[in-house]
Amino acid sequence: MSEINQGLILRPAFWNNSKRYYDLKSFWRNQFGCKVYKLPIDAGFTCPNRDGQAAVGGCIYCDGRGSKLRQAGPLPSVTEQIRKGMAYYTVHRQAGKFIAYFQTFTNTYGNIEHLKNLYDEALDQPDVLGLSIGTRPDCVPAAVLDLLEYYAKTRHIWLELGLQSIHDRTLTLLNRGHSRETFLDAVSRIQGRGIHLCVHIIVGLPGETHEDILETARILAGLPIQGIKIHSLLALQGTELGSLYESGAISMISKEEYVTTVCDILEILPPEMVIQRLTADGYKDIFLGPAWAVNKMGVLNNIDGELKRRQTWQGFRYGK
Ligand code: SF4
Repeated sequence: MSEINQGLILRPAFWNNSKRYYDLKSFWRNQFGCKVYKLPIDAGFTCPNRDGQAAVGGCIYCDGRGSKLRQAGPLPSVTEQIRKGMAYYTVHRQAGKFIAYFQTFTNTYGNIEHLKNLYDEALDQPDVLGLSIGTRPDCVPAAVLDLLEYYAKTRHIWLELGLQSIHDRTLTLLNRGHSRETFLDAVSRIQGRGIHLCVHIIVGLPGETHEDILETARILAGLPIQGIKIHSLLALQGTELGSLYESGAISMISKEEYVTTVCDILEILPPEMVIQRLTADGYKDIFLGPAWAVNKMGVLNNIDGELKRRQTWQGFRYGK
């Protein structure tokens, strides 16, 4: 399972990369033997955490505007969005195959016929290998999972669950509208259906200590989860969190603390878990902070540098 790298470092050989974590690009290459890109789609969904079904107002960090495409006017069809994305990635990134990524708001929030029509439309496009569907832990009823399980028999299917923190007090503070229990229940119902599961977490949440976020990572490390997205808390204008930040009631995590924490998390996670994201930035027009998050490449380089300095990698402390 491990190899000698640069004469010093033992890392899992199955990654087939020169990194210290199992990044998504390497996973796709191992899985499909070619460059694969996720094509973001805004299919016009809303969110039960905004419309009163689960809560009102949404998560305190959510700007509620949806994709740039939605802000620009009437949404193009799923087919049009996929074709445009394919044209771009084929020319600029030499991509061969694609995953249709239903990204904006809660992409399982609708009746099952409507969902099936949208997902079928995406899967019918040539060179689309499968789907990645962003949603919430309280929005994966059996009918949706049955449909995705059916697709997963012949296609590559991911569900992406926003969690952010495993701690109920943080979920309440964030106005997430679901509990830790709801998340654990969703994971157990998704398990065994051939659906890949990716979980999103945030580092630097208000009221959370370093140990709190490591506890989230430890619990996720023990669950049947195949992927993770990690990013720092971002303050956006027009959100409740943005107001707290502007008033000085809360501060954002420093880059050094973020890099240290991410490396600690990576060491805890299993080596098989695909790292789908380690940074994020907000819309430039409403972005408040932290300023360092804008330089995504700089943050990634710092994470690489810190793992190298430690002589560790993803999974180094898994199960210890
Ligand atoms: S669940 Fe997602 S879309 Fe809904 S309010 Fe929270 S961040 Fe926004």
